[in-house]
Amino acid sequence: MTLDEVKAGGKAGLAQALALLERAPDHPAQVALLDAAFAAASAHVIGITGPPGVGKSTLLNALIKTWRAEGRRIGCIAVDPSSRRSGGALLGDRTRLTTDPADEGVFFRSMAARDHLGGLAALTVSAMVLMRALFDLVLVETVGVGQSETEIAALVDSVVFCVQPGAGDSLQYMKAGIAEIPHLVAITKADMDLAARRAQTDVISALALSPAGEESNWAVPVLLVSAQELTGVAELSAAIDRHSAFLDCDGRRAAARQLQVGGWLEAAVRDRFGRDGGQLAAPMVAPPLDAPFSRLAEIFGQLAVGTISRH
Ligand code: GDP
Repeated sequence: MTLDEVKAGGKAGLAQALALLERAPDHPAQVALLDAAFAAASAHVIGITGPPGVGKSTLLNALIKTWRAEGRRIGCIAVDPSSRRSGGALLGDRTRLTTDPADEGVFFRSMAARDHLGGLAALTVSAMVLMRALFDLVLVETVGVGQSETEIAALVDSVVFCVQPGAGDSLQYMKAGIAEIPHLVAITKADMDLAARRAQTDVISALALSPAGEESNWAVPVLLVSAQELTGVAELSAAIDRHSAFLDCDGRRAAARQLQVGGWLEAAVRDRFGRDGGQLAAPMVAPPLDAPFSRLAEIFGQLAVGTISRH
């Protein structure tokens, strides 16, 4: 399928394209489709992370409602790190999304984080790239335990980290500096008034202590949100838009995306040809990468016949 065909096919067309990407990811038609989508990126990509039960999917639904009311079109990927099975709707699309299935402006797909050890599954990357060319916003939600912030940061433009009031674990996690600094923090369930404010203060001081935070010109907003009572959702949406505008200054978005794409290629090569293959291919994954998927196919082809090693 070409990108125009996928666009013309609506949600059914996208589902069909994703099925093809899953079944025959190396086929030249799929490689061409992904390169076209990569070049036609239009959406801002948002990652929503945080421990299970923190309120991510409730928040996601509230955000989607807000955005749909503004006429924005949304592609949504729920990534389940607990399963290594490739693709497929692990959780089903039933529970997590409460929007009208007939709404052509929201597309939802859940998928496994990994189909191999380490790194994101190729299909997750492909789905994001394709959706990024089709929607105004792409949301990537992590589901389950063990998803590292680093992994999600390799896929999205803005990372929203969700913290629940009274959840010492998340705070310890942030204080220990293990987590990559998120771009935005949402204190969920802010209807639990006092505890939520305390969590907000704790997060703000944890962020202030983090050395990583000093390097950026972006001050991480820490927002109180109740998806249940629909307070703070519009503010979170506005803060996400501000981060998007921030990325559009001084070429930040393009630079960050080039870093990401270099990482995807490296991981994909290492995954198929091991560490040695990765080293041989290293010069070929250096930016600028304008057509990364055909570049990857080229690297795979050369490594398979051993051309790269002769250089
Ligand atoms: P996830 O596992 O992070 O996706 O969390 P869920 O969205 O499934 O929410 C976990 C639980 O928290 C559910 O029982 C929700 O009803 C509850 N919850 C979610 N958002 C809110 C909120 O804004 N306020 C309150 N009080 N509870 C909430």
